[in-house]
Amino acid sequence: MLSITCPVCGAEGEETDFHCGGEAHIVRPATVDPSNVSDEAQRDYLYIRKNPRGLHYERWLCARGCGKWFHAARDTITMEFKAYYGIREKAPDLSDSKPATRRAPRKKADRS
Ligand SMILES: [Zn+2]
Repeated sequence: MLSITCPVCGAEGEETDFHCGGEAHIVRPATVDPSNVSDEAQRDYLYIRKNPRGLHYERWLCARGCGKWFHAARDTITMEFKAYYGIREKAPDLSDSKPATRRAPRKKADRS
């Protein structure tokens, strides 16, 4: 279970108190006329998402608190949140944060 803190209202809670909106900072293809967007650019905008091992920037909704969206930087290996920041803010540079340690692999259940 993830423990999350809303940077807007300060509410703390489990991930069930929030809603993950997926990858943050996805940029719509820049054009005045949408018919000028290539199929590949439209596909990338709508469907192609990063799935990094390590630092990942995400959007979260404070569902049981203020109801506002915010950004969070989370390490996908340790599941630790590295930073919370506003929905209009740019991603913080966390390149100097310590590298994530690898979790021990799960043991498979004995099905014999
Ligand atoms: Zn909130």
